[in-house]
Amino acid sequence: MRQLGMYINGNYKVKIFSDGTKVRETNENEFIAAFPENMDVKITNQCDMGCIFCHEDSKIDGKHGDILNQIFINTLHPYTEMAIGGGNPLSHPDLIPFLEKLKVKKIIANITVNQVHFETSQELIKKLVNEKLIYGLGVSLVDASKGFVELIKQYDNAVIHVINGVLKPSDIEVLKDNDLKMLILGYKHFRRGISWYEVRQDDITTKQEWLYKNLAEITKQFKVVSFDNLAIEQLNVKRLMSEKDWNEFYMGDDGMYTMYVDLVNQNFARCSVAEKRYGLLDNIEDMFNIVRDEKLAMK
Ligand code: SF4
Repeated sequence: MRQLGMYINGNYKVKIFSDGTKVRETNENEFIAAFPENMDVKITNQCDMGCIFCHEDSKIDGKHGDILNQIFINTLHPYTEMAIGGGNPLSHPDLIPFLEKLKVKKIIANITVNQVHFETSQELIKKLVNEKLIYGLGVSLVDASKGFVELIKQYDNAVIHVINGVLKPSDIEVLKDNDLKMLILGYKHFRRGISWYEVRQDDITTKQEWLYKNLAEITKQFKVVSFDNLAIEQLNVKRLMSEKDWNEFYMGDDGMYTMYVDLVNQNFARCSVAEKRYGLLDNIEDMFNIVRDEKLAMK
């Protein structure tokens, strides 16, 4: 395990390792961040997949964000992790210069693409990986197949993204026992996620109940299984671990160490499904203080 970076954030020290492990250290009672450790950044609303449950409501004629002229990007701290998504982020014409800029700033850029775009854009994805323009690669699962498993196994830092309520038992049958990494995301009742739930509620809840019941077994069939905060809540992941492990692995509430930035609509929020949005500012610390204060006010 290689240390990728170390930095001071607020009252604590952060070490990041090559396998994705992150260690926080402080002499105080709690970790108080001055800037986000992790940011979800939406760079485009263009996507030709038309997924019926898309909580971003991305469309084939969706707009691209202005990603090269944002002042706050210049204030990001080295080793901030940035999860770049869309829409289809590969469709953005400025993607490569944007990633080059982040690389110079030592931002750890990760990108999330749909399985279909992953399979059909291998040349571009290999370029991004080989030139170290991205560190991690998230691939949103559509339908697991043997061919997909063989392809994704070629990428050391790839993580398969699945949604609680969309993931099917047959997907797990194909993916399991292949030393793969999987991130389980909560079902977002937001934008098209609301309308899809209205028409397919029975199917979605059946899949969610199956995942809830089989989660302990599924976690043993992958190299790593991780969760976003929404999935942690929906699947009550805490029931599967000791208090000690929970304290060690839970990375904190949305807005305390993380935030969401929408470069298409030029706003930011505590997380991607937060209704409350704020116009972009010039400094990341000012932006982060707003979302953290919002979260603290909710406690
Ligand atoms: S691939 Fe992703 S961004 Fe595109 S429509 Fe589907 S959920 Fe939305």
